[in-house]
Amino acid sequence: MTQYDYDLFVIGAGSGGVRAARMASGFGARVAIAEDRYMGGTCVNVGCVPKKLYVYAAEYGKGFKDAHGFGWNCDTPRFDWATLRDNKKTEISRLNNIYRNLLDGAGAEIINGRARIVDAHTVAVGEQQYSADKLLIATGGWPHIPDFPGSEYALTSNEIFDLEEFPRRVVIVGGGYIAVEFAGIFNGLGAQTTQLYRGPLFLRGFDTDIRAHAGREIAKSGVDLRFEVNVQSIRREPNGLQLELTDGTALEADAVLYATGRKANLAGLGLENVNVQVNEHGAIEVDEHYCTGEPSIFALGDVTGGLELTPVALAEGMAFARRNFGGLEKPVEYDFIPTAVFCQPTIGTVGFTEEEARARFGDITLFKSSFRAMKHTLSGRDEKTFMKMIVDPATDRVIGVHMMGPDAGEIIQGIAIAMRAGATKAIFDSTIGIHPTAAEEFVTMREPWLED
Ligand code: FAD
Ligand code: NDP
Repeated sequence: MTQYDYDLFVIGAGSGGVRAARMASGFGARVAIAEDRYMGGTCVNVGCVPKKLYVYAAEYGKGFKDAHGFGWNCDTPRFDWATLRDNKKTEISRLNNIYRNLLDGAGAEIINGRARIVDAHTVAVGEQQYSADKLLIATGGWPHIPDFPGSEYALTSNEIFDLEEFPRRVVIVGGGYIAVEFAGIFNGLGAQTTQLYRGPLFLRGFDTDIRAHAGREIAKSGVDLRFEVNVQSIRREPNGLQLELTDGTALEADAVLYATGRKANLAGLGLENVNVQVNEHGAIEVDEHYCTGEPSIFALGDVTGGLELTPVALAEGMAFARRNFGGLEKPVEYDFIPTAVFCQPTIGTVGFTEEEARARFGDITLFKSSFRAMKHTLSGRDEKTFMKMIVDPATDRVIGVHMMGPDAGEIIQGIAIAMRAGATKAIFDSTIGIHPTAAEEFVTMREPWLED
């Protein structure tokens, strides 16, 4: 291995790259990591972390109104975008430094700049070339905006956090995680918010009951939610941006956010110099050990187009480092990965949707519950929590749990552990609840749901 400058050269200091670099260093490997934008990658800088901070900010909007029913008098609260944005920037800088220190502390060399692969063992950053026994591509994804007249006026999640002015009228295009979360953020912060989705029901891939419940709750919360419609063109006019829609109507906005998916970030990476294949979606193809068609080059995280979630990239980074530098074979287990959409209220989900479960198990038993959270009996907020559990009657195993309600992400994390341990409905039923909580509903759902 000493013929190379490093044992491992990681491209991209995001969730997956940093974790792989730190662990490989910990196993004694000589590691370099190149990053051209920001330490910590998408999650820390323009993803999970700033998004969740903005979700907290948005929740105050309704919280002040809720408080009246509990005796609080919150006279005309006023939101200041610049305070939120600048406090967020300070916190992200703190996290950037933590990531840098973690890598330094682990002994990995940080190289600032955009990396380009020269050959199977060589990477260039600017004029400098580095050789390594193994290369790891962890360059993540990049927002994708479709081509249409005026697309240059569309913003992505990369820019939306740092707008100079708070947009009073926001249009959000898309029906996935980012679109739904940002509709909740801007609505909660007080912007007039319109969300456009091209199909009949958004959140494709989630359980149908959850999608329908989310549609109702998000519309009730004040988002102007429109399905079966898309943007035809955007023009700049003196009063703002003028949008022509496919249903013949028009909209005026101060900002248009496109959340129409992300693509693997491969620009200028030099893949043409090596035997690394890309699939029809533009993501890097890898085997179960994250190895590409080039035996010395590996790829993991969003750039491979799997589940685009930070904990998945982290797990892959660890599995890669363990196998290649620690002599430990402990692959990532991809079943029952929980996930949350941080809208208001939150969606939390783990396991099979009803549709997937029917296709795979045939006969299934459903349990459903819809209720007003206790807090809203006094707050007066018109918001319903929905919970659904899917059971395989042949084994009694709980194979899907879906929820939309306050703290769904926190609740579903715990449920996921039980499901991975193989919990049956009988185990759920014999578990004593915590009262009074919403989560106790999951251990008291006794009557199967009967179809009409
Ligand atoms: P990234 O974190 O994207 O890191 C890739 C890094 O590589 C970047 O820093 C990039 O600058 C760098 N890079 C790229 N090319 C080069 C090059 N040639 N040379 C040098 N450096 C390069 N996931 C969740 O689990 N929960 C959430 O709540 C959540 N919220 C999200 C909200 C938003 C708005 C977005 C966009 C994403 C969110 N995600 C969330 C997804 C999560 O951010 C990603 O799954 C995760 O960051 C993927 O990690 P990664 O290591 O694969 O890539
Ligand atoms: P998604 O793939 O989740 O959603 C993209 C949305 O855009 C879909 O509704 C899709 O519609 C729609 N769309 C695609 N192309 C067009 C088009 N040409 N015109 C109109 N609409 C279009 O991507 P996101 O950008 O929301 O997020 C990327 C990924 O980041 C997520 O999949 C998720 O893995 C991760 N993420 C995770 C979060 C979390 O864990 N809380 C939060 C944010 C992001 P259709 O369904 O019809 O294809």
